Amino acid sequence: MDDKAKTFLIRLLETPSPSGYEAPVQDVVREYVASFADEVRTDVHGNVIASCNPGGALRVLYAGHCDQIGLLVSHIDDHGYLYSQTIGGWDPQQLIGQRMTVWTDGGPVPAVIARKPIHLLTEEERKKVVEAKELWLDIGVGSKEEAAEAVRIGDAATLELGYQELRNGLANAPGMDDKTGLWVVIEALRRASAEGGLECSLHAVSTVQEEIGLRGARTSSFGVDPHVGVAVDVTHATDCPTIDKNQQGDVRLGKGPVISRGPNMNPVVTARLIEVAEQTEVPYQVTAIARATPNDANSIQINRAGVATGLVGIPNRYMHSAVETVALGDLDHAADLLARFALGLRDGDDFTPGLAGRRG
Ligand SMILES: [Zn+2]
Repeated sequence: MDDKAKTFLIRLLETPSPSGYEAPVQDVVREYVASFADEVRTDVHGNVIASCNPGGALRVLYAGHCDQIGLLVSHIDDHGYLYSQTIGGWDPQQLIGQRMTVWTDGGPVPAVIARKPIHLLTEEERKKVVEAKELWLDIGVGSKEEAAEAVRIGDAATLELGYQELRNGLANAPGMDDKTGLWVVIEALRRASAEGGLECSLHAVSTVQEEIGLRGARTSSFGVDPHVGVAVDVTHATDCPTIDKNQQGDVRLGKGPVISRGPNMNPVVTARLIEVAEQTEVPYQVTAIARATPNDANSIQINRAGVATGLVGIPNRYMHSAVETVALGDLDHAADLLARFALGLRDGDDFTPGLAGRRG
């Protein structure tokens, strides 16, 4: 990953994008793709679609969702404490004691989210799992009026954003889900266009609102009407304690992007992804998922009359926490894999299960 691409990743991670509030991160995406995309547009839902060779007969969509989980301010109490609803799937235990930021029209407002100290918890309370609705945000004010000067009902909040590198090329930040997948689809577009010779039309989409129901992938797939779609999202790394490999498979950080097999994935696309990885010596891992996947691949596959869909995962430890941890090398390899995959597609390619390859 060169310096420019790495700076882009860090900017994505440091720019807030709770579902429905993605406009700031989409600005970052538009600015980065301007130098190499042939066409950039933003639809009314907020998806940013960057395209190369847009006239190509075979339409290919790569989706990385730009939204992240967060909180939505729903009430300010008489003392100026904020209560919230959750945006996306939180483990409320992950929220206790975190630094937060409320993103307002007037700029970022620092906050903490907490509960009373352990010394003051009753025996009963200590045993109980806390619910998100019991937690409050404290912005340091003394009254409802003072809070309302800074924050409005319907403002969104995130964990305090920030990027940190660990040893051996690992890095952590909130929102690796799915700023890493977003980075991969944009970077795949850049690498494919820099290489030259793209026959398909390639559309890298920064999708919105994945965390609240895979919604941006649904609207952007309808708009682009692709023949082939690949979603890139984080997937659970199982190389840390307590995860059941028998169910989740053996997925490790730094061992390459994860190609998913299962009913949500078109078998021809999946086979092609594996073939490309083998031929180009990109390290990869394989995982299985037996249901409709909980990510953009789900919406893409059942767009219109159906789309030949693939799913490429970025191994991620500690999903939906403040310290989502990935290996930077996996991002780089995923971008290479998807650039090569797109470059290898030809107009007449058929992805119909059981028939592909049998037609003239
Ligand atoms: Zn995701």
